This record gives sequence, C-alpha cells and structure tokens, in this order.
Amino acid sequence: MNLTVVGTGYVGLVSGTCFAEMGNTVTCIDIDSKKINNLKKGIIPIYEPGLEAMVMRNVQNKTLQFSTDLSVHLDKIDVVFIAVGTPMGDDGSADLQYVLQVAKEIGRHMTHPMIIVDKSTVPVGTADKVKRTIQEELNIRKLSIDFDVVSNPEFLKEGDAINDFMKPDRVVIGADNEEAAKKMRTLYSPFFRSSADRLILMDVRSAEMTKYVANAMLATKISFMNEIANICELVGADVNKVRIGIGSDSRIGYSFIYPGSGYGGSCFPKDVKALKRTAEEHGYTANLISSVETVNDKQKLIIAQKVVKRFGEDLKGKTFAIWGLAFKPETDDMREAPAIYTIRELTNRGAKIQAYDPKAMDEAKDFYLKDIKSISYHSSKYETLQNADAMILLTEWKEFRSPDFEEIKVQLKQPIIFDGRNQYNDTQMDELGIEYFQIGKQTYS
Ligand code: NAD
Repeated sequence: MNLTVVGTGYVGLVSGTCFAEMGNTVTCIDIDSKKINNLKKGIIPIYEPGLEAMVMRNVQNKTLQFSTDLSVHLDKIDVVFIAVGTPMGDDGSADLQYVLQVAKEIGRHMTHPMIIVDKSTVPVGTADKVKRTIQEELNIRKLSIDFDVVSNPEFLKEGDAINDFMKPDRVVIGADNEEAAKKMRTLYSPFFRSSADRLILMDVRSAEMTKYVANAMLATKISFMNEIANICELVGADVNKVRIGIGSDSRIGYSFIYPGSGYGGSCFPKDVKALKRTAEEHGYTANLISSVETVNDKQKLIIAQKVVKRFGEDLKGKTFAIWGLAFKPETDDMREAPAIYTIRELTNRGAKIQAYDPKAMDEAKDFYLKDIKSISYHSSKYETLQNADAMILLTEWKEFRSPDFEEIKVQLKQPIIFDGRNQYNDTQMDELGIEYFQIGKQTYS
C-alpha cells in the first residue's frame, strides 16, 4: 500500500519504517525541517535499537522517504497515519492542536477517498473531531470525497520499539466501517502471520479508550508497588521478597511490579492525567487514578529524600555521581525522567552532580538540565565517581548491573550507593562494606 505517516517522532518514524520493511511505500512527514533534512542525510534523530539500519535499508530500497510537505504526499495514498505529539495541556487534558492541524491539512489537500488513522494517543471523541475538521475543509473546497477515520493506538515501548511493532502483542483497530476495517486488517496481517486473533477490532471510542486504560493500568501497578515498598521499609519487610511472593500468584504475575523511583517518559504521566481529566469532564472523580499520580509524584523524589536523610538538608560541598538519566534503559528519552527531579532537588540544596548515561547526555545538556550549572557530564560511569560522596543509580541500563564494586569503592570518597532501581544485592553490598540504600528495604549500617 501507499502510506503517509505524519509526525516523524518515536512512533511515526518506527511505524513508518516498519510498514516500509513489510513492502509498503511510505513517506514520513514532519514540520521539523531540521529533523527531515537530517533523516534525508541518514542522521536518525532518536536512539532506538535496530532503527538506524532499518531506515537505511528502506531508504536505499526506495520504500521509505522523508518530507516536510504533506500537501504533495496525499496523491495516490491509501492510508494516512496521524502520529504527531499529544502533549499535556495546561489543564491536564491532551492537547489536540497538532492532531487537528494535520486533519485540517488533509482536508485542504485530499483529492480521493482514503483512510485517516489516529495513531497518536488521543481522548475518546477525537476521531469525531478529526472527521469534522476534514469535512469542514472539504466543504470550503465544495468537494465531496469519501473518507474514514480509524483509531489505531500504538503500544510500542521505547527501547524495544522495532520488536514491539514487528511482533505486536496485539493491534487494536477501532473502525465504524467494515471496508476500512478490512483494509487495516490487510495492512497489518503481515505482522502476525501465525495468529490473526492478535488483531482486535472494535468501535472507534473503545479503541481510543483502550490505549489510556492500558497505560493507566501499568502506571497503577507501578504506583501500587512503590507504595507497598514505602510501607515495607517502615515495617521492616523487604519489598524484593514481597515482590517475588506475590508475583508467583499467576493472577498477579511478575511484570511491572518492580519498586523504583517512579515512572516517567512521554506517555504514562500525561496519559494518566488525561484520563483523569476526561473523567472529570464527564462529571466523574477518578480517585484511584488521581492517587496513582500523587504516589508517583512523591516517588520521584524518594532517592533525593534518602540522600538528605543520610547527608543532611544542606548539600553544599557534596558531590554525587549519577548513573543513568534516561527515563528507562535503551532510550535517549528523558521526558519526565525521575533523574530530572532528583538532580534538581540535589542541586537546589547545593550539591554538585557528576553524571553519566550511555545515550541521554545530549538530551540532558541541551534541554532538560540545560539551566543547571553545577552538573558535569562524563564519558564513563567510573569517571563520575572521582571524589564523589556517593553513587546514585537512577536508570537500570545493563552496563550498571554488574559493575566493578572494588573500583567504585576506590573512586568514591566513602563507599555509599543509593539504588533507585534495586539492582544490587544487599547481602553482597554488606560483605563489600558498601553502605547501600535501596527502595523498600531499611538500610542497616
Ligand atoms: P514525538 O514528540 O517524538 O514526535 C512527534 C512529531 O510530530 C515531532 O517530530 C513533531 O515535529 C511532529 N509534528 C508536530 N506537529 C506536526 C504537524 N502539524 N505536521 C507534521 N509533523 C508534526 O512524539 P511520539 O513520542 O512519537 O508520540 C506521538 C504520539 O504517539 C503521542 O500521542 C504519544 O502519546 C503516542 N505514543 C507514544 C509512544 C512512545 O513510546 N513515545 C508510544 C505509544 C504512543
């Protein structure tokens, strides 16, 4: 099929490239001309394992191209995907301005029947708004062209996005028209040749809702476990053991019950807020969803609080080595990362930071921590330790899992580790003589 994907970010670039890999002809559009010029030169704007090689291959095969101009890429197109950002608006709801701008552009330039797909995460009712916006533009042009608006929320995870897209757990399609649903099934069928029932068809509103509910459920599991971790710490229990104890119940399972310093990223925080807002707009107070958010906001500061408890309120003259800035491993994405909150809290109290992350340091330097003067960036995890008062682990990159603890002891002023992801074994830390602080278990030192 001939496809256009509008919005060449994490979702648009990965989806467009994967569709091209399956033999479709794809144009990825973005209003960011720097991004598009770079992509044309083979410079990939994000770090995502496996993406660069796949983009190169498809550009070479002429199945993938990039442009800033949607108007000339609607000709002979079967399906247009809207994959632009839906950031958090001032009142917590999803800001639909970019989605509706694209809808307007489509209405202004479409010349033949096509399917328009909402791939961005959008609140219930957005497909209707997109439809109305396109129709208004067609009315202005005095044209009558058939089109369908389909909801196809994306479930890929940054860091494993190619794998998730190529072998999806499920593809949700919300369509109110059988022809459109059939076309979407045809487009996606190469992605699950072994089991077609992973394509879940439903009405548009339920599909829009499904994405928010999936993210809210995962965020709830994280906040629940973080709250349990904090209680464990107070009562002298070990959350690491409790986690295994409950995960063994098949009704609960092991996934997403790791305690830590809170969830971040571009999706969970804004989607939880937007779902709460949607409920409010319909006169419903979503108490559980509100609490998920409150618990997370507090949890993002839990490591900074442990540092303050250990070193005192005033951190002037103290230096901390930070391992990990990205909101999770295998990505350079720092949106809403707990590292931002931790580093701001520590530097506000006068501390100096020596940071290392395998992929996210440019994001931190150029954007998220740009205003912070008392931070230096280092080319290796061990380099950050020199003359630091403690090491703080905030992202569970694989290279941090089994470090040389003797080296850590030699480099730090005193052997102290704050572990925001419970990566290490406290018995081993005790044997090594390292003062070890983790989430959900008291530290005996
Ligand atoms: P992103 O910020 O990485 O990319 C969005 C892109 O859209 C940007 O490059 C921006 O320049 C472009 N854009 C904005 N307005 C445009 C316009 N009018 N025309 C063309 N391009 C335009 O965002 P993302 O992370 O890819 O997320 C996109 C959507 O997918 C969001 O709704 C998000 O919630 C959802 N989503 C994201 C993920 C994820 O892991 N990142 C996963 C599932 C769903």
